[in-house]
Amino acid sequence: MIGERDVLVIHDDRMLAHRPNPEVPFQPGKLDSRIQAILGSLFDSANTKWSYPEHPGRLTSITDLLTRESIAGVRYETARPATEEQLGRVHATSYIENIYTLRGKQAWLDVDTTAVSPGSVDAAEVAAGSAIAAVEAVVSGRAGSAFALCRPPGHHAESVRARGFCLFNNVAVAAAHAHAKLGCERVLIIDWDVHHGNGTQDIFWASPDVMFFDTHRAAPFYPGSGNKEEIGAGLGEGLTINVPLPAGCGDMALIKAYREILMPAADWFKPDLILVSAGFDMHRLDLCMNLSYSGFGALTGIVQELADRHCEGRLAMVLEGGYNLESLARGVRTVLEVLAGGQPPEIEEPGIKEVDELAAYHRDAFN
Ligand SMILES: [Zn+2]
Repeated sequence: MIGERDVLVIHDDRMLAHRPNPEVPFQPGKLDSRIQAILGSLFDSANTKWSYPEHPGRLTSITDLLTRESIAGVRYETARPATEEQLGRVHATSYIENIYTLRGKQAWLDVDTTAVSPGSVDAAEVAAGSAIAAVEAVVSGRAGSAFALCRPPGHHAESVRARGFCLFNNVAVAAAHAHAKLGCERVLIIDWDVHHGNGTQDIFWASPDVMFFDTHRAAPFYPGSGNKEEIGAGLGEGLTINVPLPAGCGDMALIKAYREILMPAADWFKPDLILVSAGFDMHRLDLCMNLSYSGFGALTGIVQELADRHCEGRLAMVLEGGYNLESLARGVRTVLEVLAGGQPPEIEEPGIKEVDELAAYHRDAFN
């Protein structure tokens, strides 16, 4: 029943100060002409002015919906900015210092649409700090589960590089913190964003302490990584699990992947903490997949079942992508309902129940 479980949502208005302006020249004097050429089609397509899709309205659409339609058992807290030491567990010092120099400025960092505005570095520190707060709450037992409403998102950010709207890899910073400071020895990161979590994979590629499971649209879709042969290396060999999927996949395919690939892997790994890179761009209103709200609810139910089985329910979610504001907000709310104790929805192919009923109705007509 909704309200049976206690859920902490980490939300902090400082993350609204990240407001990249797509009109800013790309690193003046450096790659300007090439980047303008690459981005030109985006700027001019269908005479629609291109705007930066990862904007503050993403967070406010979620918080507005949660205010209008509150959920029993869900409470809210703000976060502290992540420190340089915390970020430094997954990012190179030179990279962090470089990002710090951008405080108060506007700039493009990468061809993959990663930009900053004057408030972006502070926002990115708070985003990573929110993921840490979520993990601390569930490991200490202060919350049953937690959801960090982070932006900028994180899973494309690599150890030394900003990519795909991401500055610091929030989920990786949280996993590394749990391992270094909270006594977690085996952390499972599940990434259901439609894009491959290249940064998270890269950071934990050779780690024996972190298992990374990622369902995503297959390459050449952005960022182009995540083939099934990418399984990690060294002490981490076998702990990276990629499930690249064709466009148009829906609830049944994702649930099958979770039940038949993730569940046995998790039962073998026996995590003591589960993190989810929770993007909502798999929803049918967003880019290219066909997940329904019930699909997100069902995936949440599976992940919660794994957390209950292996780690006393210790489950923290970290927001990644999702650019259709309606499905982003409604998707987050659906996940929170299940985290709060709501029954995970039963999934069936849309229309089958109705056709069964209609078939019964028409059955005698031609006999
Ligand atoms: Zn995404």
